[in-house]
Amino acid sequence: MAVPVICTTLLIEKSPQALPLGAACIATSIKHSKELEGKCQVALKAFCLEDKDFPKDKNEAALYIAEKLIEEEKGGLENSSPVIFCFSCFVWNIEVLENAAKILRDKGFVCIAGGPEITAHPSFYKSFDYTVSGEGEVSVPLLISKIIGQSEKSDKVIISQSPDLSLIHSPYLDGIIDPSEYEGALWELARGCPYKCAYCYESKGQKTVRMFPMERIKAELDLFAKKKVPQVFVLDPTYNVNKKRAVELLRLIASKTPDIFYYFEARAELIDRELAREFTRIPCALQIGLQSANEETLRLVNRPFDKKKFVRGLSILNEEGVTFGLDLIYGLPGETFGSFRDGIDFAISQYPNNLEIFCLSVLPGTDLFDRADGLGLVYEKEAPYHVLKTKEFSADDMKRAEKLSKACTCFYNSGRAVPWFNSVCRLLKFKPSKIFELFYEKYTDFCKQLCSQCGHESHVEIEKIQLEFLREQCKQKNLQRYYPALEDIVKFYGAISRTTDSGKNEVVSLNYDAEYVASDYASDIRYFVENLRPKKCRIQTFINKGSADFRFIK
Ligand code: SF4
Repeated sequence: MAVPVICTTLLIEKSPQALPLGAACIATSIKHSKELEGKCQVALKAFCLEDKDFPKDKNEAALYIAEKLIEEEKGGLENSSPVIFCFSCFVWNIEVLENAAKILRDKGFVCIAGGPEITAHPSFYKSFDYTVSGEGEVSVPLLISKIIGQSEKSDKVIISQSPDLSLIHSPYLDGIIDPSEYEGALWELARGCPYKCAYCYESKGQKTVRMFPMERIKAELDLFAKKKVPQVFVLDPTYNVNKKRAVELLRLIASKTPDIFYYFEARAELIDRELAREFTRIPCALQIGLQSANEETLRLVNRPFDKKKFVRGLSILNEEGVTFGLDLIYGLPGETFGSFRDGIDFAISQYPNNLEIFCLSVLPGTDLFDRADGLGLVYEKEAPYHVLKTKEFSADDMKRAEKLSKACTCFYNSGRAVPWFNSVCRLLKFKPSKIFELFYEKYTDFCKQLCSQCGHESHVEIEKIQLEFLREQCKQKNLQRYYPALEDIVKFYGAISRTTDSGKNEVVSLNYDAEYVASDYASDIRYFVENLRPKKCRIQTFINKGSADFRFIK
């Protein structure tokens, strides 16, 4: 009788970015394993913190998972013994999954664990029967075959060899995971990275990039098109490291799935005009790791950075109209609060669509983890291993940095401030980080609430608060005469962005002629006000040939 094997994990949310790809890859490899042919029956069962009845308390959550897995085994799969559970573990779910495994083991089930958190320190977690470090597509089926066969004993800790990517099956093509269920896909194009940033799991990798074969990529694209997947997050940490392949894939994407929205991670230094133009041919956005603008800090974490090339790459993206966001990290070695603020100011000056600011995690298994004491990093000893302070960055600085991060998320990202934020900074003679600091001071609860809701607050509400804040700043600086123009710009771009998102028309009343508000004149608010006369008007935003436009109305 076939042995039931359930691959499981706990997700933060039900979204394409969070879908259980790791667990699905293992389930697929078990399904196709020659050693296991006819010997086991595999299923995928993912839990999610957002599930309606999922308990908030961690102990209750572990019990809930254990009970549901037992139910699953009894209901969905043939009854047989032993039952094997394969856990996919990350920093955010390890505690709950470990406790669930303890409960299951007490009842006689076999528990195997893998995933990034296990890969980092496979000997550390004792609550599982077996831990598998690295990519498990070959080693997990082999391990299960030994458990079922009982002929050959397996080690408790298994260090996997990287599988040949041309030989492993796609969980999407296999039907193990349906991207429609997650309203999008997390799409693996390659594994590995040519860089070795000290804080990343890749820091001890082989510095090689292994690509999935083109036939698989084409077949997955056909599936995404057939399923009308709305968005795809590309899993390749440096998509454009091989320009020829990046261009080839973009052309393929444009021909097969022209309507799907893609998210890529890219290196700014490697962007050139040709590549940027290829990005413009599909609906997409790029996320680019800056991490710090302090060259000494980047050297300490082994992250190559060429500021000139970085700026040039971003200018090309801006000139070609490619949407991109930037990432920054606080708590890095060698960073002071001053240099961190400089990083924010530099990042915003590049007109990113969004700026994500994260706290550094000193992940076990990384080069940084090994060097942390020498670098003076003090960090949490349990997941998520956040830095608490460094030699140069006090605990108080960490709190201040977190506040700037929240204010940036709220005011800039969720506030969709990119078209006007730098103009406002110039008018008020404030650096971006100063605006975030002042905004957080005044609207602390709003920032906290918005961040805890992951930006679900309606943009109209944020816009109201942005305007209230900007009016107050203009007043304090005796710049009231500029406020009506500033108000127009914020309202105009707010309505345009909402119409882009929702497709719904909006009516906006303006103090100045909308043609000027929408023009380059508006990038210099002083010049705008000093050279143009107010002229009240009303406009309606609407979708014109796929993008938001406006017309005058009475
Ligand atoms: S942080 Fe990104 S670029 Fe750096 S090693 Fe990791 S995957 Fe590669």
